[in-house]
Amino acid sequence: MANRIDAQVAIVGAGIVGVAVAYYLSTRHGVRDVAIIDPLDPMSLTSSKSGENYRNWWPHPAMRALTDHSTDLMEAIAAETGDRIAMTRRGYALVTRRRQPDDLIAELHRGYGAEGGERIRIHETASKSYRPAESGDWRAAPDGVDVLCDPELIRAAFPSYAPDIATVLHIRRAGSISGQQLGQFMLDAVRERGGRVLRARLVGVEAGAPFRLRLEASGARSELGAAQIVNAAGPHLARVGAMLGESLPVSCVYQQKIAFEDRLGAIPRTMPFSIDLDGQTLAWSEEERDVLASDPTTARLVAPMRGGIHCRPDGPQQGKWIKLGWAYNDTPSDPDGAEPIDPHFPDILLRAASRLNPGLSAYVGQLPRGAVHYGGYYTMTRENWPLVGPLGARGAFVAGALSGYGTMAAAAVGDLTARWMVGAALPPFAANFAPSRYADAKLMAALAAETSRGVL
Ligand SMILES: Cc1cc2nc3c(=O)[nH]c(=O)nc-3n(C[C@H](O)[C@H](O)[C@H](O)COP(=O)(O)OP(=O)(O)OC[C@H]3O[C@@H](n4cnc5c(N)ncnc54)[C@H](O)[C@@H]3O)c2cc1C
Repeated sequence: MANRIDAQVAIVGAGIVGVAVAYYLSTRHGVRDVAIIDPLDPMSLTSSKSGENYRNWWPHPAMRALTDHSTDLMEAIAAETGDRIAMTRRGYALVTRRRQPDDLIAELHRGYGAEGGERIRIHETASKSYRPAESGDWRAAPDGVDVLCDPELIRAAFPSYAPDIATVLHIRRAGSISGQQLGQFMLDAVRERGGRVLRARLVGVEAGAPFRLRLEASGARSELGAAQIVNAAGPHLARVGAMLGESLPVSCVYQQKIAFEDRLGAIPRTMPFSIDLDGQTLAWSEEERDVLASDPTTARLVAPMRGGIHCRPDGPQQGKWIKLGWAYNDTPSDPDGAEPIDPHFPDILLRAASRLNPGLSAYVGQLPRGAVHYGGYYTMTRENWPLVGPLGARGAFVAGALSGYGTMAAAAVGDLTARWMVGAALPPFAANFAPSRYADAKLMAALAAETSRGVL
């Protein structure tokens, strides 16, 4: 009995990443006997908190290649399913009050590598009008980046922005998808081919051929034998890694979002996902400032804060909902502990977001009824690259640490993990994301020296 194989592959975690691994194993490589193990509903933990944005803008070409590959795969699914995954492409607009931000342009060139010359277009005068993708159709949008350096041009293209915006970097191969629909589509395909989801928690593993997985469900214990195992446990990646005898270099950082009905029409429905890159000191009244500064738990709110505040219309073009976020927290916490949701977050975020889109200031202190405030963990390595590939024990793999980009990268990570598992050919960038990269001292030193890790 000890050597019985109950499933060819056991995937720990039914988040978007575990589901994507199962999808590519079963649809591309004919591996039908896949068991996805999770005590929760599929895609209900971190994967349900995603802002569902995607982009191919990164400080390093390897991450650009990974997300370009993922976008290719998502486009194939959108085309095959009559766009079940609701893919839009209005781009990411990175905005700053700085004129000629040479560092940002240099970063674009580094990220796009040899193709940068062709992909980056600079617009310095208002002589020609600039029309950002009105329809949002992913098939119609161009690739590359448009850099708008003329304030008049910017105002005509993005009328809701404050007049002090001097430069916009409009990343064009970027937009939104429905991550839940993507996961559901993949799960349906896995089930059609014989894969299954087991509602149980992994509580221990005995390595060997096969692996013996100890499972717990409603207080009852059981065992499962599997020839291969994938750790896709999201924020519990380190804990499941430890069961496999690995110390995975990840931490979990809680990030938050809000969404509400924009009854006042502050945000145009055609506005791209817009990110204010500039740091700021929030505008408080003198009295508010004194109160906040005198309390050690709120004193940070009167100090200068980092940029990266983002906002976009959500849902259909005729809809009214908008989504906002700001990943300003950088203190790791325990994903098994109390959820560190901050009741001040909606107010802080709205004040900060009003700097770029002044129409939002009408909501400060009076969020519409029905507004939602939620959060989840960015499970991250120090360099903000994922962990995808073989672990030390033969037959064990990891697919995780997808930080704030797991919805957009899940398809590529699923594809790469499946290729590692069946021994299929891998694209050149695969080695960058395997845990074995930590043995490459030159690469790790170069990553440690990077000024940006692409955290949004
Ligand atoms: C606020 C926020 C905004 C985000 N916005 C974006 C965005 O705009 N675009 C984007 O691409 N990404 C975004 N992300 C990131 C994205 O949501 C995550 O990277 C992605 O969902 C991670 O998926 P996962 O499958 O690795 O983890 P999860 O979805 O957390 O799934 C892991 C699963 O593993 C299970 N599990 C854990 N331990 C065990 C065990 N012992 N036994 C069995 N099962 C176990 C859990 O129950 C869980 O269901 C955002 C994240 C947050 C928090």
